[in-house]
Amino acid sequence: MMLSGWGRHPAVDCRLERLRRPEDLPGLLHRGATLIARGNGRSYGDAALNPELTLSMLAMNRMRAFDAGTGLLDCEAGVLLTDILEAFLPRGWFPPVVPGTRLVTVGGMIAADVHGKNHHRDGTFGAHVESLTLASADGAIRECSRTENADLFRATLGGMGLTGVILSVRFRLRPVETAFVMAETLAARDLDETMALFEASRDWPYSVAWIDCLARGAGLGRAVVTRGAFIERGALPPHLASNPLRPAPAGKLRVPADVPSALLNRVSIGLFNALFYRRGRGRARSGARPVHFDRFFFPLDRIEAWNRLYGRRGFVQYQCVLPKGESVAGVAALLERAAASGQGSFLAVLKLFGPAGEGLMSFPMEGYTLALDFPLRTGTRALLDGLDEITHRHGGRVYLAKDARCAPERMREGYPRLGAFEAVRAEAADAPPRFASELSRRLAL
Ligand SMILES: Cc1cc2nc3c(=O)[nH]c(=O)nc-3n(C[C@H](O)[C@H](O)[C@H](O)COP(=O)(O)OP(=O)(O)OC[C@H]3O[C@@H](n4cnc5c(N)ncnc54)[C@H](O)[C@@H]3O)c2cc1C
Repeated sequence: MMLSGWGRHPAVDCRLERLRRPEDLPGLLHRGATLIARGNGRSYGDAALNPELTLSMLAMNRMRAFDAGTGLLDCEAGVLLTDILEAFLPRGWFPPVVPGTRLVTVGGMIAADVHGKNHHRDGTFGAHVESLTLASADGAIRECSRTENADLFRATLGGMGLTGVILSVRFRLRPVETAFVMAETLAARDLDETMALFEASRDWPYSVAWIDCLARGAGLGRAVVTRGAFIERGALPPHLASNPLRPAPAGKLRVPADVPSALLNRVSIGLFNALFYRRGRGRARSGARPVHFDRFFFPLDRIEAWNRLYGRRGFVQYQCVLPKGESVAGVAALLERAAASGQGSFLAVLKLFGPAGEGLMSFPMEGYTLALDFPLRTGTRALLDGLDEITHRHGGRVYLAKDARCAPERMREGYPRLGAFEAVRAEAADAPPRFASELSRRLAL
């Protein structure tokens, strides 16, 4: 069937099979064929696509054990983050790191070694994984942790499914007393102010900025910065205190059809950005307020199929990270280039990263990460190549979970531990490597 990632580009005709039991794996593989595991398809580009065999993990979705003394959860890799939240938040537990959508699998979170709004404090999801089980193409299963098959463990965190099929995972949840985050919104008039607010918010567990990406000149990098921390039970306002661990409110909007690309222009996108900034400035005047975690962490999930907003041809999310010392100049150059192209994005998101973790191919490094969405049209590729050039010049790299078009040389320059990754992969896999995706072929991995 035709499959794509969240950006809907590229769409590729793939043989899709569901893995129900690990022992079925060798039987699903035709002789000499390659395969890639697929979670919930929330990576944006071509990471979870392989025409020969794309292996859906969604049927491997059992939670196997939970230790209420330590918060240790043992679950299969196809379990969705949304199911973990539904099962454990009412009991006072929350995952240590969550991405911007709850519609991802645990396997996908490890393969991309995802980050959240708390990377500066808590690192990536992988930092909280105790161990995982990994299947190779012949069905052999290995236990991987920091003490057993440690190289394979480090290669699998951020390894984009290229080291094997993650079958199950043990990681630690954290106790929370309420489902609410005390969120404070601050307005920044330019990039210097935006970054100064991040630095001043280091003690807050969560921080993120939405940048008005069409602002230029003196307003370049103006943003709405939000920071937050889970509220303790005793600090909840009285109207929320009766049910402190309440689930997310029901009700969603749905984008019913592809938005015609004629509506995505400088005027509509500029208007959206300006309104968003003005609303945020209004909030900034009203001080900190309690917000349900679902709204704080996953605002985009409230709009079902929002990827249709970018039209039938799909879109690309460009996400890069730049080292700390290069961040002001590099982010300014990226924003300037994007704004000058007129191909602005609805939202540009900026986050602060702490030090890089142990995953050999993990994306984060100490510095700032910027994410921009671009509808695909004539000229978009040239713009993105230009952004790559800026990222490279400032010593940064692009995020493979979002990528659909980066050139192999550019990617290689950004990932200095790629050689070590390739060595582990060659040793672990039968040669030639059986785990491959459209992404790995494009990037010659
Ligand atoms: C709205 C939105 C917001 C997002 N926000 C963030 C964010 O804040 N931070 C962040 O880091 N990411 C973010 N992402 C990206 C997303 O978290 C990652 O792409 C994640 O990997 C998607 O998980 P998935 O289960 O959908 O995996 P898929 O997209 O299906 O696959 C992603 C990769 O994981 C591999 N994989 C999946 N399951 C397995 C398995 N069992 N074994 C081996 N490999 C496997 C695939 O081969 C592929 O390489 C966001 C995505 C969206 C759509």
